[in-house]
Amino acid sequence: MAKKYLKCNKCGSVFHFVIPRGWLLKNVFFFLPVKTYFCAKCTKTRYVWITNAKEAEYERV
Ligand SMILES: [Zn+2]
Repeated sequence: MAKKYLKCNKCGSVFHFVIPRGWLLKNVFFFLPVKTYFCAKCTKTRYVWITNAKEAEYERV
């Protein structure tokens, strides 16, 4: 089964960087299945609502 790629929800390009969860996400919103990715095209950090199990279906960034 071919792996899918996580894409930017604004421009649709594939993410190239995964950003480690910051202090706020780690300590305050640790229970939320949110991951941060950096879109090279928008040059913006995008928050993606995705669980670890769901993320495993995608190719690693
Ligand atoms: Zn983008």
